[in-house]
Amino acid sequence: MMLNALELTGRTRTHVVQRDDLRAAVHAKALEAFLEMKADASRAGLDLEITSGFRDFAAQQRIWDMKFRGERPLYDEAGNVRDHAALSGEEVVDAILCWSAVPGASRHHWGSEIDVIDRAAMPEGYRVQLVPAEYEPGGVFQALRCWLDSNLARHGFFRPYGAFRGGVRPEPWHVSYAAVAVPALASFTPELLAEAVESSDMLGKALVLKRLGDIFERYVANVDAPPSGATVKPA
Ligand SMILES: [Zn+2]
Repeated sequence: MMLNALELTGRTRTHVVQRDDLRAAVHAKALEAFLEMKADASRAGLDLEITSGFRDFAAQQRIWDMKFRGERPLYDEAGNVRDHAALSGEEVVDAILCWSAVPGASRHHWGSEIDVIDRAAMPEGYRVQLVPAEYEPGGVFQALRCWLDSNLARHGFFRPYGAFRGGVRPEPWHVSYAAVAVPALASFTPELLAEAVESSDMLGKALVLKRLGDIFERYVANVDAPPSGATVKPA
């Protein structure tokens, strides 16, 4: 299940299928597995929904550029708001990287990644925030988290951002389809990311390129692998 350079960096949609009923695009293999997992979960009373599936380079760049300009709030590692005007360009890049990927470096480009919520657990009018507290004891998605903990692997998924490893913060909502994502990560390189960033007009491009090796190491390569013994369905 090899993705090419454009697919790995979100600059094409050739590897994903759009599903308007799910309001998401997902890699075909991951979609099949997700639908099986969704049916399984519904028998347990959960209504799995995708809040974010495939996201392309342009969408990631819009998030990045808004944060770079200070049009969206920046947070430090603890989640405290930082004053954009008081930060150097390097510090702005660091603050963005705490919570958002460099365009080209998001796993959501691969189509194998899904942010998942449980519609059935949400009170009327509830607005999803996608913060860890929602998935912790007492949180609206606690039951979803527990269900995923025991059933994810059976459907070929795992959590790449389970534990904090010094890069991306833990994201209990983010699940990854191993049969697509593991080979994708194995074929992704700092050179491929550099080429994608270089050929874009994203803001702070020179600052990112200067530190690209470190960024790749800390935020792309530094993730949890599927647990040994997990079912990895052939794609
Ligand atoms: Zn995600």
